[in-house]
Amino acid sequence: MSECVFCSIVKGDIESDKVGESEHCIAFRDISPQAPVHILVVPKKHFRSMNDMPDGSVLGAMGMLGRQVAKELGITEKGYRAVINTGEHGGQTVEHMHLHILGGRALKWPPG
Ligand code: AMP
Ligand code: ZN
Repeated sequence: MSECVFCSIVKGDIESDKVGESEHCIAFRDISPQAPVHILVVPKKHFRSMNDMPDGSVLGAMGMLGRQVAKELGITEKGYRAVINTGEHGGQTVEHMHLHILGGRALKWPPG
């Protein structure tokens, strides 16, 4: 999976602004931030999307790292949004499972 951008970031072959790491996941700043805080949490192992997760263990670990990074970056109290875009209709553009953590401003709902 050498062509996968997030696998390359996990391996350190592509630079990222890393903000956190746990046993199964890393967290880094989105290259095109949609909010003052915009973090991506990705599993170290390649899964194409939410549909390919074998069970909830890595997904749970992603959520916990996202929550920890949100706290460290000071957005816990005001709140933030955790988003997993999945497939074409979900707006997924990078086919390596990832969790967006967005915060630092009030976000609109519903999404477009
Ligand atoms: P999605 O549209 O849910 O698949 O989100 C993919 C996200 O990955 C987008 O918000 C991109 O800005 C972000 N992204 C793509 N390449 C990189 C990169 N090299 N480093 C950080 N974020 C990236
Ligand atoms: Zn990958």
